Amino acid sequence: MRIDLHTHSAASDGTLPPSRLLEAAVQARLDVIAITDHDTTAGWDTVREAVPDDIALVPGIEFSCQWTGATPPISLHLLGYFIDPTYPPLVAELERLRQARTERGRRTVELLRADGIDITWDEVARIAAGAPVGRPHIGAALVRRGLVSTMDEAFAPHWLGERYRIPKADTDVFVALDLIHRAGGVTVFAHPAASRRGRIVPDQAIVELAAAGLTGLEVDHPDHTPEQRAHVRDLARALGLVVTGGSDFHGTHKTVPLGAELTAVEEYERLLAAR
Ligand code: AMP
Ligand code: FE
Ligand code: FE
Ligand code: ZN
Repeated sequence: MRIDLHTHSAASDGTLPPSRLLEAAVQARLDVIAITDHDTTAGWDTVREAVPDDIALVPGIEFSCQWTGATPPISLHLLGYFIDPTYPPLVAELERLRQARTERGRRTVELLRADGIDITWDEVARIAAGAPVGRPHIGAALVRRGLVSTMDEAFAPHWLGERYRIPKADTDVFVALDLIHRAGGVTVFAHPAASRRGRIVPDQAIVELAAAGLTGLEVDHPDHTPEQRAHVRDLARALGLVVTGGSDFHGTHKTVPLGAELTAVEEYERLLAAR
C-alpha cells in the first residue's frame, strides 16, 4: 500500500486543483492520499464525491499553530484528519487564520514595495485565487516578475525566508489540538524536527502534546534528515504515538514529487482506529 498523508492543492499553496491532484495521485500509484491544505478544507470538500475508484481520499488540514513556551512563540503545523468541516468553532478559527493570512500578505507586499520591489497585492491575490494567502503566492509573483529565478531563491533569507517574513497570528497549538479533536478528528504533528524550516520546539513540548491527546508524529518528511527521523521515530515509540510519512507535495511550487514519502499501512490503520 502506498499511502501519502501530506499534500497541498491549489485550495492553499499547491499548484494542482484538487481534482488534478487526485489524478496525479492515481498516476503516482498511490492507494491513499490525504489532502492537507493550509487552514482550509475547501479543496477536498469540492472533490469528495468524485474520488477515482482506485484511490481513497483522507480529508485533512494543516493547521497553522504556535507554541508559546518560548519567546517569541515558535510556529508549528498540526495535521488534522477526518474532521467535521462544519464544526462551528473550527470554522470560525480557520476563518480568523485566513483573514490573518490576507492581512499579513498585504503587509508583506507593502514591505517589499517600500524597498522598491515592484510587485502588487492584486498580482498576489490573483495567484492565490481565493486560497489562504501564503508566502509561496508572493514567491510566485517574485518569480513571474523575474526578481528571483526560483521559488527556493524567493525563500532565501534576504527575501521571504527572513527579511520579508512577517509572523502570522497563528492558533495556540493546544487550542488547535482541542478544536480538531472536538471536530471528530485525529492529530499529527507535521515535520516536528525540521530545523531547516526555522525554530523547532523542544521534545518536552511533544511530551505535553501527547499528554493532551496528540495522535501521531510525522517522521518521514522531505525536510527531515536521517538523524531527525530516527529521533522523532524513537520519541513516537516512547510516547506510543502513530508514525506517519508524507511528501508535502505542492505541485510546481516545490520540487518533491507525490508519494516521495509514505506511511506504513499498520500506522495508517492505527490512525483510522484512533478516530
Ligand atoms: P507561510 O505559511 O505563508 O508562512 O508559508 C510557508 C509555506 O511555504 C510552507 O507551507 C511551505 O510549504 C512553503 N515553503 C517553505 N519553504 C519553501 C521553499 N524553499 N520553496 C517552496 N515553498 C516553500
Ligand atoms: Fe505550504
Ligand atoms: Fe507544514
Ligand atoms: Zn504542508
